[in-house]
Amino acid sequence: GLRSGSAAPDVAGASAGTPDIGVSTGLFIDGRWRSGSRTFDVLNPADGSLLTRVTAADESDVDDAVRSARRAFDGEWGQAAGTARAAVLHRIADLIERDADRLARLEALDIGKPVGQPAMLDVPNAAATFRHFAGWADKITGSAIPTDGYFGRPTHSYTVREPIGVVAAIIPWNTPLMIAAWKLAPALATGNTVVVKPAEDAPLSILALAELVQEAGVPAGVVNVIPGLGEEAGAALVRHPEVDKISFTGSPEVGRQIGRVAAESFKRVTLELGGKSPQIVLADADVEAAVQGIALGLFFNQGEVCAAGTRVLVHRSLYDQVVEALAGAANGQVVGDPFDPQTTMGALVSQEHLDRVLSYVDRAKDEGARLVAGGGRPRGEGYFIQPTVFADVARDATIAREEIFGPVGAVIPFDDVEEAIEIANETEYGLAATIWTRDVSLAHTLAHEVRAGAVWVNGWAAINPALPWGGVKTSGVGRELGWSGILANTEEKVVTIVL
Ligand code: NAD
Repeated sequence: GLRSGSAAPDVAGASAGTPDIGVSTGLFIDGRWRSGSRTFDVLNPADGSLLTRVTAADESDVDDAVRSARRAFDGEWGQAAGTARAAVLHRIADLIERDADRLARLEALDIGKPVGQPAMLDVPNAAATFRHFAGWADKITGSAIPTDGYFGRPTHSYTVREPIGVVAAIIPWNTPLMIAAWKLAPALATGNTVVVKPAEDAPLSILALAELVQEAGVPAGVVNVIPGLGEEAGAALVRHPEVDKISFTGSPEVGRQIGRVAAESFKRVTLELGGKSPQIVLADADVEAAVQGIALGLFFNQGEVCAAGTRVLVHRSLYDQVVEALAGAANGQVVGDPFDPQTTMGALVSQEHLDRVLSYVDRAKDEGARLVAGGGRPRGEGYFIQPTVFADVARDATIAREEIFGPVGAVIPFDDVEEAIEIANETEYGLAATIWTRDVSLAHTLAHEVRAGAVWVNGWAAINPALPWGGVKTSGVGRELGWSGILANTEEKVVTIVL
């Protein structure tokens, strides 16, 4: 977590009174660690205490990082064979697996999530992502394309996929290690170099990843990590003329600003933004499985998930049963210490974010939704909130429309499949959707009609490094992961030889 407005002038490096939590807290530029003139505080969301202070990159640090990435791109890395890039990615994956416990603990400490969750998802997924793209690195091929020739002369045309150049990777705080892997692995597999800007709320696991990158022997400048504030380091990175592509995951507001800057300079850009994803429970659904999956989609990672299934649309025949079961599932969550193995939901990332989520709860009450679980704060220190469910939410209510990014569900009844699709699609977002049904043809029909980048039938968040990830409408532009991740990190060149 971050104490907002805390980027005060400070002595470089670990200043007196800064706790040592055993992770580098500087800037990783051109293969070396260095400190800067200012730091920002990183807080423990579970009790509000100071975890450490991390160097805040300023504009000249950003410039150094981008130039080092450019030199590395123009040097050895830009010429490295696919097999050599694959070996580097496998080494990073090996080191993530070796340090899995430490990485999971850092993630839990920094973000407030129960330590079992990053141990089960974020860390293995990050390693798997590096392995998946290690597999692609020596298999990025073009094609030979026959044509009717050139003014009567035969030709030979073929395409190649080349790296774009320097990639700026801007990361949010909710699942930083995993999202950093989603951006680094495909960029490196295709021969780009990268400058990573972690979120000021949660930089620690990415700093630990930078240590592993160094240990893996990745050539200097190929990966640079520069923690810093969004409006300062992030904005400077996005504007930098030597950045060729921006890969951003975060809020639609910042995504819109980045898209504008990218448009002016014709930088390549992928934007992974927010969501307000529906979970549609059809009349024939396996209710027990649906409730379990919906609870996961609402409360996993404290609901701080872009794909959180926060609009629960339930067929009228199951409505009372599902509302009651969801209230039970909410009340059954164990909220508390992220390091207690019994805990199923930790703290929100910061005081500021907690206040924002609580204001949505108040708003929902004002707008007449029926609170069936939670709605308040448990006792004690830290940025905790109760798992919360509202029923009888109006289709146009604020909590049915806006992304809350916290553990707050909105349950809405529907009468037929057409109405379910209409409600599912009446949102500016389109990241993910879940359909709970036993009817295979209905599943296909709804999967086709719902407007989202990902549709899950009888499950929630079935993500995998081999599968494309991204949204439609306000949820984003472009796709990451799988072959789509290779396409998003390369330019296609066509070569025609007139014979
Ligand atoms: P945010 O937009 O506030 O910040 C994201 C990153 O952008 C941070 O590193 C921040 O420092 C940086 N930033 C802020 N202002 C900037 C600027 N002017 N120029 C450049 N960089 C800037 O988002 P957040 O609060 O960290 O994350 C929450 C949001 O991220 C939610 O909307 C969530 O849905 C979204 N998200 C989307 C996905 C996805 O895959 N679609 C995944 C996770 C999170």
